[in-house]
Amino acid sequence: MAWMFAAIEAGGTTFVVAAGARRAHLVPVVLPTSDPTTTLDAVVAWLRERGPFDGLGIAAFGPVEVDPSSDRYGVIGATPKLGWRGVPIGPQLGEALDCPWALDTDVNAAALAEGRWGACRGLDDFVYVTIGTGIGGGAVSSGRLVQGLLHPEMGHVPMQRADDDTFEGSCPFHGDCFEGLASGRALEARWGRAAEDLPPDHPAWDLEARYLASGLHTITCVLAPQRIALGGGVMAAAGLLDRTRHHLRERLAGYLRLPESFLVAPALGAVSGLHGAFALAERAQSSRG
Ligand code: ZN
Repeated sequence: MAWMFAAIEAGGTTFVVAAGARRAHLVPVVLPTSDPTTTLDAVVAWLRERGPFDGLGIAAFGPVEVDPSSDRYGVIGATPKLGWRGVPIGPQLGEALDCPWALDTDVNAAALAEGRWGACRGLDDFVYVTIGTGIGGGAVSSGRLVQGLLHPEMGHVPMQRADDDTFEGSCPFHGDCFEGLASGRALEARWGRAAEDLPPDHPAWDLEARYLASGLHTITCVLAPQRIALGGGVMAAAGLLDRTRHHLRERLAGYLRLPESFLVAPALGAVSGLHGAFALAERAQSSRG
């Protein structure tokens, strides 16, 4: 018999929800994120029509407690999203659907999915980084997601600034950290228009590639991944991945020799978070014993 799984990618603007026995057959529905009660009620109502389930996986926006041994496992942390702080999204959904559940951050889930089915298949040490409105990353080391004090916050590593750059940075906590200099929000604050409205020959893109290389320099030296999958909306810009490869090689100056396939686009694209949630659902089912 086939197990039935529910997968949820919980984002700040939408919840992407799917149900099925096989990952390849998932047909997701997109529900708007509003207040917690309205949103979670809609998610549960949609899923209940398709259950019962043997496992539920949730790929959630952070910060969120991801340690299963914590009594706050699955509880949303200090988010600026109105009303969501302290919401026990994991326990609440697990109870409503009456099945075992597992939860991780959206970027950790995307890393899991890229490792199992995507651009990092077969590797034990790799990193998934997304450059979108914000910047986040998930790392797999010796086959396991890196977790400790909290989930990694790769978007907030310090950066080496360009000499002539006077932009103060857009991170409310650190100013000119990785996210503060190179996220979609930073691009828009610096240049006065959204990333998708900046033409390919705009000077924004060479500076962006330099800053991406600076952030990835740190990630590469600390985690020593075999590969980095670099995704997110900003990476859709024509030529940006190639430019970033170039600047990363220049920065590393031959000290670390990177394989040709070191910096790649994710293979699963926009569905990596949802498919990561599916992987978490399988894990929840199998860990029930
Ligand atoms: Zn920061």
